Amino acid sequence: MAHLTVLRECARRLADRAMPGRFPVMPGEPGSSHALPADAYLYRAWRRIISSIPTECSLCQCTSRGGRLCQQCETDVLDSLRDATTSRCAVCALALNPDGSCPDCQARRPAFDRVIAAFDYDNPGDLLIQRFKRGCFVDAPMLAGLLADAVRTAAPPLPRSTILVPVPSSRAAIRRRGFNPAAEVARYLARDLGLACKPSLLQRSREGVRQAYLPKLERMRGVQHLYCCPISVPHADIAVVDDVITTGSTLHAIAALLKRAGAATVYGLALARTPRPPARLE
Ligand SMILES: [Zn+2]
Ligand SMILES: [Zn+2]
Repeated sequence: MAHLTVLRECARRLADRAMPGRFPVMPGEPGSSHALPADAYLYRAWRRIISSIPTECSLCQCTSRGGRLCQQCETDVLDSLRDATTSRCAVCALALNPDGSCPDCQARRPAFDRVIAAFDYDNPGDLLIQRFKRGCFVDAPMLAGLLADAVRTAAPPLPRSTILVPVPSSRAAIRRRGFNPAAEVARYLARDLGLACKPSLLQRSREGVRQAYLPKLERMRGVQHLYCCPISVPHADIAVVDDVITTGSTLHAIAALLKRAGAATVYGLALARTPRPPARLE
């Protein structure tokens, strides 16, 4: 099925060339884009055209269409967050305690206003994220499409003026992966939703250490002063895009930073949300 992967990548690059300059082709490339409504229409029309091309489901390898998951796998992935038996926090999307309180928000009021995620970081969606972060960025349009669907159906909807800003990767992570997963998702999300994407609004002020296995308190200390916003953003509505939200410490630090720079609201958009604080991170 390797030729199908090549075909999908060719289609992706053709789509990029159909709108030169506005959407840079190389993954992880810095720069801003503003998807005008006509661009979003063209992008969705292009996705409809390629949706008839037979491809392979990224999870079960059965036949699917246009780079999407097969219907069964898509249902399995998305149902993780739609479990009606578990109530979610309206702010951070974490599973609520039996008494209705949020394990995170009751202890610390987050600086961000709302999290929208496509699915839980749980089986089988976690496999998609791990595959994507290992370098399978050909899955980026499919994953961004799942998040775009979640944003479109979220209530209340995001303001049309919302600016997408990906969480910057460290230089070491970009060298390791060859791309910034959050930037790839933000780029396709901007096209799909017709929103502006301005990666330059958020920069790393230092490199820092890998956060993945640090306890929550150390993660919170580790992300302080890790990012900077080089300009003021008065009254802006900003959506910070990341691949996974785990403890929310990074999003909290970035939201506080953007609000000090003048932002009116800060949303967190993520492919996946950990449903509960993992014991090893707390
Ligand atoms: Zn499948
Ligand atoms: Zn919460």
